[in-house]
Amino acid sequence: MPTYDFIIVGAGSAGCVLANRLSANGRHKVLLLEAGGHDLNVWIWMPIGYGKTFYNSHVNWMYQTEPDAGTGGRRSYWPRGKVLGGSSAINAMVYIRGHSSDFDGWERLGNPGWGWQDVLPYFKRSETNDLGGDALRGGDGPLHVSTMERDLHPLCDTFIQAGTQRGQSRNTDFNGQTNEGFGLYQNTVRDGLRMSAARAYLRPARKRKNLQVETHAHATRILFEGKKAVGIEYEQHGKRIQAFASNDVILSAGAINSPQLLQLSGIGPASLLSKLDIPIVHDAPGVGQNLQDHLCIDYLYRSRVPTLNNQLHPWWGKLLHGLRYVLTRRGPLSLGVNQAGAFIRSRDGLEKANMQLFFSPVSYTKAPPGKRPLMNPDPFPGFLLSAQPTRPTSRGHLEIRSSDPFEAPAIHPNYLSTGHDVDEMMEGAAFLRKLAAAPALAEVIEAELAPGPHVLSPEDLLTDIRQRAGTVFHPAGTCRMGPDAGADVVDHRLRVHGIDGLRIVDVSIFPTLTTGNTNAPAIMVGEKASDLILEDNQGT
Ligand SMILES: Cc1cc2nc3c(=O)[nH]c(=O)nc-3n(C[C@H](O)[C@H](O)[C@H](O)COP(=O)(O)OP(=O)(O)OC[C@H]3O[C@@H](n4cnc5c(N)ncnc54)[C@H](O)[C@@H]3O)c2cc1C
Repeated sequence: MPTYDFIIVGAGSAGCVLANRLSANGRHKVLLLEAGGHDLNVWIWMPIGYGKTFYNSHVNWMYQTEPDAGTGGRRSYWPRGKVLGGSSAINAMVYIRGHSSDFDGWERLGNPGWGWQDVLPYFKRSETNDLGGDALRGGDGPLHVSTMERDLHPLCDTFIQAGTQRGQSRNTDFNGQTNEGFGLYQNTVRDGLRMSAARAYLRPARKRKNLQVETHAHATRILFEGKKAVGIEYEQHGKRIQAFASNDVILSAGAINSPQLLQLSGIGPASLLSKLDIPIVHDAPGVGQNLQDHLCIDYLYRSRVPTLNNQLHPWWGKLLHGLRYVLTRRGPLSLGVNQAGAFIRSRDGLEKANMQLFFSPVSYTKAPPGKRPLMNPDPFPGFLLSAQPTRPTSRGHLEIRSSDPFEAPAIHPNYLSTGHDVDEMMEGAAFLRKLAAAPALAEVIEAELAPGPHVLSPEDLLTDIRQRAGTVFHPAGTCRMGPDAGADVVDHRLRVHGIDGLRIVDVSIFPTLTTGNTNAPAIMVGEKASDLILEDNQGT
């Protein structure tokens, strides 16, 4: 009967951090289970390969949500990483921590130890910034974060100039003193190769004798003795295997799969579990609730000047840039798609930015459904401006459909279900048009292709948003951290309420979404959790 001190389910952004930190002292025996396979895949390592992993079921769970009224009855496509590194192996690599008030807000919701001053050391501990460390940035952590300036498309400067013409400031570090203003994104990339959590944290720990990593190991249920979690059952190559943990079982399976595994194991809303004939271990109504996501609207422009489309559409451009990348790891293939961006206040009277903007100097509107061919962009010069409200108030939920651990859960995003969220999306869209009309951008824009100049009235603008807005891939909150043993799922030490020996460590514990992208805060959660877990297991 294989027994470990800790079993971690999921080798994603947070799970890889845990695997490294919990095995570092050599005293604890750690088992890491990952449903996906290894990450030796050129499209994972080459940043532009993002377009190739986006619809690849070998490395991606490829979820579809239920039809959602907020987005005109459409289903949304939700990619999630299913490979060592999890979603950090297939994401767009933008590095944003969030606003200090996000974490102070988590603390105010009853989570001592999660305020900004508490979590900042963990952000710093995780990071090596290529500009070096200082009071805010990390200088010697495992996760390399790079400024991409030397290879960025020149239109990024045009975008930033347009922002300043609209009265916004220029920001040289969105993770510095303030996130507000227009600037360039930093990416989780090192030497032209993606810096996933697996590369940053797992690779350096793989040789440790006390860390066992199992791939293609799909956790199917948590094993209990009464109300204590004692192990995991998983399926690997057609075999059901049980492994036991003397200290903690830790779920780091992400915002969809952590609540799914809890529900499958009998921890969830009693009514749901009874309906599906799943024996109830603990009635936990909050499991799968509080689902939050960032939604974004893209405006597409035809450009008078060359964009990345001109470089990457022709066959000779692909050859040239492919050769350049192979020889130097430089050029457009070494970059993410969202090169510049901004944080702005979309209306007067706000205390801080409520809107994130993205600028992408490439477009791929002619792609057939199911393809995102970044290496085969539109045959005309085009670029995208995008707006994403940062702190949505709409809340969705997810639930398993059956007791089958291989059946995807039903995901109900409930997008745009509050007046606040509708208003902010409209404000974001209005700002994009205002930005496009600023002299620097107006000079290079030939035409607005989507939604198009005929879409003008508030009714038409909202219809367009409902028809075209899409996820920015940040679902979170489905196992919310908080003090209420009924509505919240874990306490501030990430222990599942009502159950011994079980923790959750991933973006599902976020009480609220952070202001920006979610990979950096997921890694921070892994870092902080590792200290909490080691503190609570000092004698072992
Ligand atoms: C397409 C895309 C683009 C994105 N772009 C950005 C970006 O530019 N910047 C940014 O900051 N964030 C971005 N994100 C979001 C960010 O990557 C995620 O929020 C973050 O990686 C989530 O970390 P996690 O640890 O919660 O889960 P994940 O990293 O998703 O890890 C969960 C892991 O658990 C495994 N797992 C699940 N179920 C089981 C099971 N039953 N048994 C065993 N293993 C299991 C999964 O296979 C996966 O490896 C993007 C995400 C996607 C999908």
